Amino acid sequence: MVFVGIIEKNFSFTIMTRIELNVAGQPISLIFNQQQIIQVFHQQQALVLESESEHLQSCQINEHAVNFNTSQLAEGLLGIAVNAQPPQWLEVPHQQTENKRGWLGLAMLTFKIFKSAKVVKAALAGASVAGYAWLFSLEFALMIIACLVVHEYGHVRAMKYFGIKTKGIYLIPFVGGLAVSDEKITTRWQDVVISLMGPAFGLITSVLGVVLYYATEMEIFAGVAVLSALLNLFNLLPILPLDGGHVLKSISFSMRSWVGLLACFGGVLLGLYISWTFGLMLLVFFIFIGCLEIVFEWRERHISHLLPLDRYGQIVSALMYVVVAVGHIAVMMHFADSDNVILSLPMKILSN
Ligand SMILES: [Zn+2]
Repeated sequence: MVFVGIIEKNFSFTIMTRIELNVAGQPISLIFNQQQIIQVFHQQQALVLESESEHLQSCQINEHAVNFNTSQLAEGLLGIAVNAQPPQWLEVPHQQTENKRGWLGLAMLTFKIFKSAKVVKAALAGASVAGYAWLFSLEFALMIIACLVVHEYGHVRAMKYFGIKTKGIYLIPFVGGLAVSDEKITTRWQDVVISLMGPAFGLITSVLGVVLYYATEMEIFAGVAVLSALLNLFNLLPILPLDGGHVLKSISFSMRSWVGLLACFGGVLLGLYISWTFGLMLLVFFIFIGCLEIVFEWRERHISHLLPLDRYGQIVSALMYVVVAVGHIAVMMHFADSDNVILSLPMKILSN
């Protein structure tokens, strides 16, 4: 069986660190890399960060003006000055520049080179259409590409919303699509929203398919609706590195860390079961990548730069996930009793 999934990941090489501290009597979260402060959070809200000069950044915490001197950040020292007082130098954890990840680092470097080549995009898109057309039909190929592009566009929109630079959408023949970002996310909330916006935009394709089907009575639109619903539901499975897996990871890692580890490995087991049942060998490969991600995050959980979700954020994330999933399930159920074999196929597969 062929795997038509949608995999995406934030590929970035800068290492970020998050620390919690008290400034002017207020608890804040600081996210920084070796050169500068990336973001400052106060009560789960990102503060406006101004760059005064190369090594001087400032923000406003309540009525206090706070200046950050980042000239010695690479050596593990950060200067903090409140209301124009002399700066206090704070020791912060500093990162080694050497890449200890071995072959994983090499793989990422290969990808970095690959993603910088703009030509690849058009070539990949063409190869994707040709690939799916060869496997199925041209009509089906264009349907798949349309679903993939709308889904990926949702991710890209969400990244742009958070001010994260993107490299755009890539189509990978026989694998799916990829929305590539240039910078790392700083909060688990961003991960949730970016991950969910793919399937949420996919809901537009699904619903539009239903509407156009009844408006024109052309079966291809019903086909698009069912295909889009199936594709997006697949990506909502709580398995890393699928979109649903990112939502699960963000919520569960925001609770106690061992809850995150257990939940994510629960997803791995589910993924292996699905791979086995449907013979999706490519999914096994992606689950392996997902396992690396889980282990890596678990090991680095104490120095993770990602701002966790508070209880409210966890509940809202879970609710948003349910709403998007129910939307696609409703579209699929709508055609479940259809006489057309193709349209009712997804439901038959799932109910077996
Ligand atoms: Zn996605």
